[in-house]
Amino acid sequence: MQDPFASLPDRYLLRNARVPAPLLRDVAVGAETDRDGAWLVDLRIHTGRIVEIARAGTTSGDHAIDLDGRHVWPQLIDVHTHLDKGHIVDRTPNATGTAEDARHATAADRVAYWRRDDLLKRMNFGLRTAEAHGVSAIRTHLDSHEGQAQETWAAFDETRDRWAGRLTLQGVALVPLDTYALPHGKTLADIVARSGGILGGVTRAGNGSHEAGLDGLDGLLDTLFTFAKERDLDVDLHVDEAAVANALGPVALATLRHGYEGRVTCGHCCSLALLEPEAAELIIALVASAGINIVTLPPVNMYLQDRQFSRTPRWRGVTPVTELRAAGVRVAAAGDNCRDPFYAYGDHDMLDTFRQAVRICHLDHPIAMAPELVGPAPAGIMGLPDLGTIGLGTPAHLIIIEAWSMDQVMARPHSDRVVIRAGKRSMAAAPSYAELRAISRQASGFEITAGATVVA
Ligand SMILES: [Zn+2]
Repeated sequence: MQDPFASLPDRYLLRNARVPAPLLRDVAVGAETDRDGAWLVDLRIHTGRIVEIARAGTTSGDHAIDLDGRHVWPQLIDVHTHLDKGHIVDRTPNATGTAEDARHATAADRVAYWRRDDLLKRMNFGLRTAEAHGVSAIRTHLDSHEGQAQETWAAFDETRDRWAGRLTLQGVALVPLDTYALPHGKTLADIVARSGGILGGVTRAGNGSHEAGLDGLDGLLDTLFTFAKERDLDVDLHVDEAAVANALGPVALATLRHGYEGRVTCGHCCSLALLEPEAAELIIALVASAGINIVTLPPVNMYLQDRQFSRTPRWRGVTPVTELRAAGVRVAAAGDNCRDPFYAYGDHDMLDTFRQAVRICHLDHPIAMAPELVGPAPAGIMGLPDLGTIGLGTPAHLIIIEAWSMDQVMARPHSDRVVIRAGKRSMAAAPSYAELRAISRQASGFEITAGATVVA
């Protein structure tokens, strides 16, 4: 059969499309839903934008493609990644897989290799992968330690500008919170402000802020929020990724103290899962009143939680997504690390992240609202109202999936999905790992050949 998407004209119709409810912004009069709550609609596209959304099977004219009820999603948004760490796993592997060894391996790799060309090559590899899978926007955290921040942010700015119009990028500073008590903290805030980025950091247990007690944490948060306010920057923090940690409450209080409601995002927040229900409820209520956005990162949490070398995990916990959403908190799901010491796998595929998040966090039964976590929720966090949903006037950045129900969306990886970019079929393909040979060779002396690893 001839590929109906091979050469799309400027005006055409996608008839009988099936769009999950949270992903359709403008509902057509008289449209019907299926058992998953997905809308059955016709979509009219003109010069790269959605110009009409109608009840399924009611439109005519133009060049019409009948989708016969297939799922059509907007391109998805990955609001928490680490493009600067990506694809270093070959040259600097994590021997045990633990979070502690991940930090050591990453620091060693960063000091040894993270210069402009290396950063550009790996960030571009990750972005080309995301583009091929149908991702329209990415927020990436960037290791911003003293001696590294200038080079990384310059490489990021260059990458963001090069990708403008293709994939929207935002950068977040990532440092231990203690950094904000040092002279580099203010320097970093200025670097971030010049780039138009987001201020952030990690409240990791044992990074000094906790050892100094909550007073120490509060003081560091006050400094960070003051820097952010002075420069009108949003804040995005790694919070309570460890099973036992307690920074989310203090972050919510700092947000309220500084009048920063609605401008703060916290990733991970796993330790809530271990609290007594009443204690968790109190913190969740505080998070809701502070208007904090939460990002859950379940595939990477499954990889790192309760990992000890040569032992099966006993306890692994994730963000209590259902309870947070019930309290009115905006929650997104995101991919996090990709082929680095913190997560040896990953492919910047948000459809894959969605499928894993649904399974791990039990976002199904009912599943109707789950797609909100990878479309409108991250779009809201990133301030991109035109992306992550299908609506009148939005760009026609679409994914057409060979599935007629949510269980079919869930069951397969859908590597055969059709990606539409600005109304045209995207022919972007995920780059071959062969392209990474040069950087993989740097440290290890290993060369990857097709199907085999050969000691050079
Ligand atoms: Zn992260």
